Parts: sequence; C-alpha cells; structure tokens
Amino acid sequence: MTPDTDAVVPGASGAGTACDVGILTVGPFQSNCYVLRPSGGGPLVVIDPGDEADRILAKIAGDDVAAILLTHAHLDHIGAVKAVAAATGAPVYLHPGDRFLYDAAVEHARAFGLRVEAPPAPDRELTEGETLRFGDLEFEVRHVPGHSPGHVIFVTDGMAFVGDCVFHGSIGRTDLPGGDMRTLLAAIRKEILSLPPDMVLYPGHMGPTTVRHEAQTNPFLVQGGYA
Ligand SMILES: [Zn+2]
Ligand SMILES: [Zn+2]
Repeated sequence: MTPDTDAVVPGASGAGTACDVGILTVGPFQSNCYVLRPSGGGPLVVIDPGDEADRILAKIAGDDVAAILLTHAHLDHIGAVKAVAAATGAPVYLHPGDRFLYDAAVEHARAFGLRVEAPPAPDRELTEGETLRFGDLEFEVRHVPGHSPGHVIFVTDGMAFVGDCVFHGSIGRTDLPGGDMRTLLAAIRKEILSLPPDMVLYPGHMGPTTVRHEAQTNPFLVQGGYA
C-alpha cells in the first residue's frame, strides 16, 4: 500500500503511449535501464544500460535496437554500453557536456573498486530541443544540467525519462564534478515542471512518479527557494 495516489507501477502506461516500458534495475547502484518496445512493432530503444548487460540483452531478445540513449555519463548509467552496443550494433547518443565523464568511466569504476569496459566513442551528440525519431518512437531532447553538465531527458508520448535529475520525492545529488544545485533546480523547473502534469517520469533510480506529484510534494521543488 502506498499513500501516493499518483504513482504508477512499472510497466503501466498513460493513455496514448506508443510503447511498452521495460524496466531493469541493475548493478550495485540499482540504476534503472529502460527498454522501450513500440506497441506497433519496430526497433527498440535502450536508455541507460548501466550494468548487467546479460539481463539487458535477454530483455532485448534478439530484436533490432535503433539507439542507445544516455541521460548522462555517470558510471551507473553507462557500465553496459560497450556490451550492449557490441551485441546490437546500435549507435550511442550522448550530450557532449558529459563526454569528460564518459571518457573517464574506467577510472571512475576503479575508484569504486569496480570494473567496467571502456565504452565506445558516442556516435551522436545530443542537442537541446532536437527531436529523435526511431520508427514509431519519437523523443524530444531537453537539456537539464546540474546533476551533471550534459544531463538530458527524453520526452515521449505521455512519459519522460529523466535520469538523475528528479526522483520520487527527491532530486539528484549535485556534489559530483560539474554538479550545481542552483543550476539543477532552475533546470528542473524550466524543463520538467513545465511538462503536462499527468506525464509519468521514469527516473534513473527508484520507481516512477508524475510531474504533478513532484511539483506538489517534492520538498526540493515546493519550497521555491532557489529558482
Ligand atoms: Zn548520475
Ligand atoms: Zn545514477
């Protein structure tokens, strides 16, 4: 039982959504990898393959993958990029503002006593405001810096994949390289709270929420001190 009436269960979708959302929570940091499968068929899109490539590839089950989209380049969101890209041949999309993190993935892993294989260079640079189309799937790219400099979110029909910008009742940490609290709060207000209130937000950790729920109850967003 949860007192949160706005919450949706993983896999549920709002009216008009054009794809099924597969959620895999992976690795020691329990990050969410999303596998989007268009309802009408066609190639899949993978967001943030952070770890446990075998589980992600099992979910893909040999289907074509049109793209690997990265919300940002922290280790826990990119640890399986190499294996998933190699197995699927899908191009990797990253905002250039996070390239310095992406290129340091192996060192960052070592600092945590972990190992990752260096991911391949990104194939495409994401740009604020651009629209990405893969078959029936379409995403608006919004730049939401503050957790990391090149963090983006992917907005599609009735839902947005928001990485580590905003969580159910919290926001992303801002004490990592390139992070900034004031920047993050301003960007969340401008790019996320401006989305339709019923839109489902799928974060990089923990369960989904909605724009309305966070606008009304998130302690970092209701006080309004920074923006
Ligand atoms: Zn992060
Ligand atoms: Zn994360």
